[in-house]
Amino acid sequence: MNKAVLEFSSRAENVAFARVAVAAFVSQVDFTLPDLEEIKVVVSEAVSNAIIHGYENNPDQVVRLEMSIADEYMELVVIDRGKGIEDIQKALEPAFSTDPERMGLGFSFMQSFMDKFKVQSKPGQGTRVKMSRRAGAPRRAVVPEQ
Ligand code: ATP
Ligand code: MG
Repeated sequence: MNKAVLEFSSRAENVAFARVAVAAFVSQVDFTLPDLEEIKVVVSEAVSNAIIHGYENNPDQVVRLEMSIADEYMELVVIDRGKGIEDIQKALEPAFSTDPERMGLGFSFMQSFMDKFKVQSKPGQGTRVKMSRRAGAPRRAVVPEQ
């Protein structure tokens, strides 16, 4: 087991920082380049959600990102202490967003690019998104095979 924790300001410029940090940390695992691209998308989506929705773009809060790897297995946890999610089930629906300007696809990307995905959230307390993926694991097909 190898672990790392990052805490950073809830600023949009730190989305890129988080992506690069995760990519560097997981370079010890045998992910392919396309795998890494997907992992970076997931990090961007989860961290952006924390900043945009959790902290409503207040740049003075803290986002926590916990990473761990064990053998070929990677786990990421993205935590904010922001406003929380009223209805998690609804938030997970593809194309659902509380912001009419947004696509509502962040959680869909996280679910399809990771093997395990779990959201814990309480209004007024914050949100914790825990996800994991194994190198070389078969991807979940979007369209079932015939
Ligand atoms: P997109 O990700 O496509 O820009 P989106 O962020 O609205 O749009 P999702 O990432 O799927 O879509 O999130 C769905 C909804 O869940 C958000 O609109 C928001 O209401 C809620 N949500 C997601 N993450 C958080 C969070 N960390 N704190 C509070 N609410 C959140
Ligand atoms: Mg989003």
